[in-house]
Amino acid sequence: MTPDEFRRLGHRLIDWIADYRERIEALPVMSRVQPGEIRAALPKEPPHTGGGLEAALPSLDYTIVPGITHWNHPGFFAYFPSNFDLSAVLGDLVASGLGAQGMSWQTSPAATELEEVVMDWLRQALGLSSAFTGVIHDTASTATLCALLCARERASSHSQQRGGLQDEPQALVVYASDQAHSSIEKGALLAGYGRANLRRIETDENHALRLDLLRRAVEEDLAAGRKPAAIVATIGTTPTTAIDPLAQIAKLAARHGIWLHVDAAMAGTAMLCSENRWMWEGVEQADSLVLNPHKWMGTGFDLSAYYVRDVEHLIRVMSTNPSYLLTAQDGLVSNFRDWGLPLGRRMRSLRLWFLLLDQGIDGLAARVRRDMEEARWLKDQVDAASDWERLAPVPLQTVCLRHLPAALRNDEAALKQHNLAIATRINEGGHFYLTPAMLKGRQIIRVSIGSALTEQRHVEALWQELVVQARST
Ligand code: PLP
Repeated sequence: MTPDEFRRLGHRLIDWIADYRERIEALPVMSRVQPGEIRAALPKEPPHTGGGLEAALPSLDYTIVPGITHWNHPGFFAYFPSNFDLSAVLGDLVASGLGAQGMSWQTSPAATELEEVVMDWLRQALGLSSAFTGVIHDTASTATLCALLCARERASSHSQQRGGLQDEPQALVVYASDQAHSSIEKGALLAGYGRANLRRIETDENHALRLDLLRRAVEEDLAAGRKPAAIVATIGTTPTTAIDPLAQIAKLAARHGIWLHVDAAMAGTAMLCSENRWMWEGVEQADSLVLNPHKWMGTGFDLSAYYVRDVEHLIRVMSTNPSYLLTAQDGLVSNFRDWGLPLGRRMRSLRLWFLLLDQGIDGLAARVRRDMEEARWLKDQVDAASDWERLAPVPLQTVCLRHLPAALRNDEAALKQHNLAIATRINEGGHFYLTPAMLKGRQIIRVSIGSALTEQRHVEALWQELVVQARST
């Protein structure tokens, strides 16, 4: 494609994206297509001759958009949000337009140095001390895997330089709550700890990790000759946004020299507001920390912020430094290929930069406050309704609820069917999308507020819809 063709089609597509965002509310939030439908609408074979892009653009509307679940829709209350602010869309476009690959400082100095600057801006905005240094990863799953690899290497005095875990005399153990995200389990398994050495610690009535049980598990492992290597504390668990008791966990980790990783994938964005920082009191004692600006903040997927205290350790674990990657500036600069798993790196920093320039910390914090206020409003409605039940505290923006009609009160199986039916009908209705989930054996409807376009009126309309569907189901 020539620059002139790009300019012409590009302007059309920018208009198309802007139009899409303007009409998004009129679209059904959850895609209604059936499995295979999109595939069937596309040619089976690739084009042999080029020049067909412009003619195919209408298929964005006819074929692709119907198969999109609209994460930026104001009625999106499912999972956690994944906001892609339009300023970040522009940042993404510039990153692609530049085509920069930032594996080393030399391969695009601006890619490295912009990332250093925006990660430091973000650190300040979250109220973290300068003991932390940040790097951008694609996802929290990758960052957590890195943390567990670093923990493994610290606990084993760099076993990877010898025979790896296969030669270690002592089993290394990882601890996380039974509400921790599946990426913790995946990271522990991929880092070679083995399922037998992953302790899922029970949680209390607020779904936060029980410190007494964590302490006991650590002591039992020590007594049995195993080595506690890592604790993952979650600030804002996925099911209910529960807050693990980080300050006490940090003390326990320090006492035994255990790596402390904090998973604040969702809640991290809330720390833009100083009044929320009680939630991660103790975070300064962590060895590593991940949050996902691609969830609530608006950078768009994928952009995870990974902060560590000991950069040298991270580099020692992640670096292999073959000769063809060495450059004259090594030692003077950061080569981010040595700060994570992949060699090649997109210039994700542009999205965070554009977002911060466009919204400012105050703008982002105001949206967090608005969403938390809306969640508190919904919580109050649930608490005031005698036939609804709330199943978890609401420290952030997620409300876990279920309809509890008198006739079904003691029948868990019937309650499950009833609440699943409510959620399914609402999701099929097209105006809202929420997540039915199981919480400790009980069927819940999980309402996660945080799409940038969601206003109070959308949350009110959702509550009305829940009440109407509960009556007619
Ligand atoms: N940790 C928590 C608490 C999450 O809620 C999620 C995703 O929702 C993750 C980790 C994984 O995030 P990612 O998709 O960036 O790997």
